Amino acid sequence: MRVAAALAINEPRQIMSHKKTTPIFGKHNTKICPVCGKPSYSAGGIHPQCAEKQANAPREQQLKAKKKTEAKKKPVAKKLPQTWNQKKCPECGVEVHVRKKKCDCGFNFFES
Ligand SMILES: [Zn+2]
Ligand SMILES: [Zn+2]
Repeated sequence: MRVAAALAINEPRQIMSHKKTTPIFGKHNTKICPVCGKPSYSAGGIHPQCAEKQANAPREQQLKAKKKTEAKKKPVAKKLPQTWNQKKCPECGVEVHVRKKKCDCGFNFFES
């Protein structure tokens, strides 16, 4: 009986101690990657691919901002005072000449 009782107690303990040995987030030698928030074992504490992503992020944002300003500028530049000979493209919202068959974005007015 004694042995059985000891085994019954030991078993859950073994499971618990086993759980403790598995790597836990925030272990002293584990750094959390600032980009993806997952533990990283690399020296810098950041995944190489995440570091690359981070390095590319500002460039991507700049490109996006550039595209945005370009997209904003386009309709303004195309907006001419005389709107009677202009029609609005349902695809991009840019006003194009009535006699134009195709918008600059590729939308075909005669196909719709
Ligand atoms: Zn990462
Ligand atoms: Zn268009």
